[in-house]
Amino acid sequence: MTLLRSGAASDVGRRRSVNQDAILTTPTLFVVADGMGGHAAGDIAATMAVRTFEAAGGRLGTEASFSDAISTANAEIYQASIDDPALAGMGTTLVAACLLGGASGDRLVVMNVGDSRAYRFRSGALSQITDDHSMVAEMVRRGELRPEEAEVHQQRHVITRALGLEPEVAADTFGVALREGDRIVLCSDGLTDEVDDEEIALALSTVADPQAAADDLVARANAHGGADNISVVIIDVLMADEAPEEATQAHRVVSAAVAGGATTAAGAPAAATSASDDEGWIARRRRLGIPRTVTFRVLVFIVLVAAVGWGAWAFVRWYAMSSYFVQSTDGQSIVIYQGRPGGVLWFQPQVTTVSTTTTGDVLPSRVKKLEHGVVEPSLAAAEHYIANLADEKRSTTAVQPSTTPTATVPSTQPGASGSGGTFGGTATTRGATVTTSPSAPTATTAG
Ligand code: MG
Repeated sequence: MTLLRSGAASDVGRRRSVNQDAILTTPTLFVVADGMGGHAAGDIAATMAVRTFEAAGGRLGTEASFSDAISTANAEIYQASIDDPALAGMGTTLVAACLLGGASGDRLVVMNVGDSRAYRFRSGALSQITDDHSMVAEMVRRGELRPEEAEVHQQRHVITRALGLEPEVAADTFGVALREGDRIVLCSDGLTDEVDDEEIALALSTVADPQAAADDLVARANAHGGADNISVVIIDVLMADEAPEEATQAHRVVSAAVAGGATTAAGAPAAATSASDDEGWIARRRRLGIPRTVTFRVLVFIVLVAAVGWGAWAFVRWYAMSSYFVQSTDGQSIVIYQGRPGGVLWFQPQVTTVSTTTTGDVLPSRVKKLEHGVVEPSLAAAEHYIANLADEKRSTTAVQPSTTPTATVPSTQPGASGSGGTFGGTATTRGATVTTSPSAPTATTAG
């Protein structure tokens, strides 16, 4: 035995003057119709469809009779549009769910024509039962358009099937296995154009009463603009004869919202975002004017990609700027740069110090090396390297070949100060201890 409880709401929205949607709820039959046509014609077409089902309600014991009701509604609307020129071209979408008895227990059959939809919400996951009969939905199914492109496509409202436009119409049929706790949602595009699947799932996970949930979804659609008429029917499964899924079903999970994070989507690990996270994100997204296609998970992905990008940038910067080098680019001055010779990607070396030591103060053999740049691990090491170069030049120019390398000799000008302020005094080089003078670069040697 299956026990259902339903709630329903239909609203004109905030832009239209007439509500051309029509709904029907009985204990076992539920219908949403979205009429189209000039003046009040759409309203008439939707109402005719609903009344046909209402009249046939007691006889809808089989799938065939359910299908017959759609054919009858189509024929009546089509004939009325021919008989009355004022109603020419009127039509309506239709999505209907009917609980039918069977040998293996009760089963829910859903039929649809047009872009009004049926969803099943189970264990926090929202699955779309029906396929839209619209131009963009068919392009998506053919792989010619991405779903996010379809959402903003200029011709997204062009439907390819409707009741009343042709003498005959083909409806899609879905057998829906029910489980206690399931929620079935029937709705017009006034809901799905304004409220994305993520937010629908959120509302269904947080509002328990079916009537309150239907009212909540209508209010959300109006809060987002209410550009069209909005109709919602919610059917809660209080008790069910559990039956295996039927082959006609190909529900695709379109969104998951898990209240409290305690439950997971049946048969698959839930891509669970907590309801409070989603609620907060949705509110922030609206406040910041971020498109609906930017979901919470898309945002997390963007943040992760940005973090990886920033990490790579920081590493390259650290590598490029963590060392120093000594270079002479003009053949005279000796400069300490932070960075690496030639730079790394877009990080160019920065001048740190222009030394008072010039290329004239170092050995000619070192100048060639300085033109290419000598890398040192730190600023202190770079300064030390330049000091060593100067010392080397001074020592070399002060020393003459000695035949008694270990002898200590007196200076001809003891105590004289050298050029550069540090030159002079006693130096030890090549095994000889010598006393040197900058003004008398040729040292006096013993012997
Ligand atoms: Mg509509």
